[in-house]
Amino acid sequence: MDERATDSLDKRAGQRESLRTGELRALYREQDENGRRATARHGLWLGVGAYLLYSITDILLVPDVAIYTITGRVAVAVVVLVLIEILVRAKASPDALDLVCAAALLAGYLGWLSPSMMTEHVQSFSHYMVFGTIFMMGANLFFSFRFVLSVITSGAILAGSLLALTLFPADASYQIALGTFYISCFIFTSFVNWKLNKERYNVFLNAVEAKLQHEEATERGEALLRLSRTDPLTGLDNRRAIEEKLRQRWFEWRAFGRGFAAILIDIDFFKKFNDHYGHQEGDRCLAVVAQALGRTAARHNASIGRYGGEEFIVLAGVDEQKQVVHLAEEIRRTVETLALPHEKRPDRPFVTASVGASFTRNGDGTKLEKIIHEADRALYLAKGKGRNCAWLFDPNDSESGEEGGDIAALLKVAIEQNLISLVYQPVQNLATGRIEAVEALMRLTTVDGKSVAPSLFIPVAERTGAIAKLGQWAISTACRKLLEEPQVPTICINVSPIQLKMPGFAASVAAILEETGVSGSRLTFEITEGVEMAIHNDIIRCVNELKRLGIRFWLDDFGTGFAGLSWLRLIDFDTVKIDRSFLHDARGEAMLQDIAGLVRNRGSRVLVEGVESEDQLALLRALGIDLAQGFYLGRPSCEMRYRSSPAVTWKEAQPFLRIV
Ligand code: C2E
Ligand code: MG
Ligand code: MG
Repeated sequence: MDERATDSLDKRAGQRESLRTGELRALYREQDENGRRATARHGLWLGVGAYLLYSITDILLVPDVAIYTITGRVAVAVVVLVLIEILVRAKASPDALDLVCAAALLAGYLGWLSPSMMTEHVQSFSHYMVFGTIFMMGANLFFSFRFVLSVITSGAILAGSLLALTLFPADASYQIALGTFYISCFIFTSFVNWKLNKERYNVFLNAVEAKLQHEEATERGEALLRLSRTDPLTGLDNRRAIEEKLRQRWFEWRAFGRGFAAILIDIDFFKKFNDHYGHQEGDRCLAVVAQALGRTAARHNASIGRYGGEEFIVLAGVDEQKQVVHLAEEIRRTVETLALPHEKRPDRPFVTASVGASFTRNGDGTKLEKIIHEADRALYLAKGKGRNCAWLFDPNDSESGEEGGDIAALLKVAIEQNLISLVYQPVQNLATGRIEAVEALMRLTTVDGKSVAPSLFIPVAERTGAIAKLGQWAISTACRKLLEEPQVPTICINVSPIQLKMPGFAASVAAILEETGVSGSRLTFEITEGVEMAIHNDIIRCVNELKRLGIRFWLDDFGTGFAGLSWLRLIDFDTVKIDRSFLHDARGEAMLQDIAGLVRNRGSRVLVEGVESEDQLALLRALGIDLAQGFYLGRPSCEMRYRSSPAVTWKEAQPFLRIV
């Protein structure tokens, strides 16, 4: 539970505690003051009305003193009503009003009793005296006095009544009977009053308890809601919450034309940071960056959320492109200014972020996801431009154009939507003429059926991590293909060094072999030396584990990168594939022999890629190259029906291959 929620619940528990220890009484007295004022006022008006009506019984029972009793009644009525109205207007406390009512009862009683006692009509008055109990009931039952006030008032009335009895010329039995009646009435009505007060207090307690529980439940609910929408590490909105805000902004843009920008922020080389400083420091770095970004976002009245691992998103209301550019740049600068140390990145020794932005444009906005895709594309371009830069999506810029930019999104759904496939290209042994292996090459098409070149989508897959899933799919698909094609000895699968570095990769390959029943010796993994990546111990360990499964390793595109010799030094490759560029230009041809010699000395076989003509094939034969691959020998195709023959030529291979 977050801090605010815990604080508030603690406060409530404390509140409960202090209420239990005495403040409840005070609260009870303070509660519903207006209601109590109104009750006292209405009660008094009603009581005074009835009191005045009893003037009739005065005339009937004590006619000789009725003039005095009625005058007394009117005088008391006028005084107490004026008094109560003044106090109500002055917002006097309900206790003060109750006091006036109690005084009114006493004054009313005495105002009637004293002149009545002077009557000549002793017989009638002896009955009339019973009415003293009405005043007692008024104090204990009619008004809602507190117990003490009720007892004092009704006690005073009792005392008055008993005193009157002693002064009244009556016999002892009358005095005993009426006196006992007065006392009983006092006791019973006081008891009922006590019970009523207790009941009222219990009702109040229950109401307080219910209110506290309700408030506690509401706060707990609010805290849970806040928790479900907050990223626990940074305290920012989590992805769910920020996506809701995005939908809201989108709705406002569609309905009222309020434009907004979506800005994606990705910490550069964060994985390296985590690897070097540890995950705890990584978390701390994210929290510090999040706080700083939060302050920048607040200055621009923008929403900010954590969008993924080291990715944040800012949504800000904007009217024009210039504002977006400024905000994106300010965000980039915010992270740079923090100057958090990052020793392990190749370019500079501190943490930076790449920023990709997009904003709503008129006439362009059928889909909510589009703005995020555009920001995503801009972010990739920012990364491509050397990182630590902010890039705004430009629909007219070919680099950020639809075809290239949608690749990341396309790759996410490629497997489920059957947009990905494998084609196979034969590898020929030049000494025997046999097809010794086929290379599996990945193909991607868009939803409209347009094909996307591997040179475009493989780097994106490697950058986004999609290569992991796609790579698994390729291995599994190739294994199933091997089961259908028993005459194909081996399939070569291109494996990115990024895959080899992923924990559990060797185990997942072993699982595929186990599941499909294909022997590891029918698989070859090609590693491209061109990928800019240091050869990590993890990679070497993974290669050795895979070799234990019987899988062989070939080094691909040898001669295109700087790391080729390091790879050769650290890993024993079964075969080294020399890049086709050596065959395609005259100076390269001269080097071919030297490279082939170097590779052979390392104990590997030599394969030359990109054979496109008879002459090139002849050259390779003359150089004693072991294996060859190229359009002349067989194009990549979805079928694998190749004829093995020493004299196989491209023309002969044609009928057996479906060209793609
Ligand atoms: P690569 O592994 O060196 O694959 C050989 C590339 O050369 C293929 O291009 C193939 O079509 C092309 N090629 C073959 N013979 C000839 C020829 O005679 N002339 C010319 N000009 N080209 C020829 P493709 O299919 O476009 O693949 C490009 C690269 O994409 C591959 O180079 C490989 O590095 C990568 N790739 C392809 N599939 C996968 C995969 O499943 N996983 C990974 N990680 N990378 C893959
Ligand atoms: Mg290859
Ligand atoms: Mg190659």
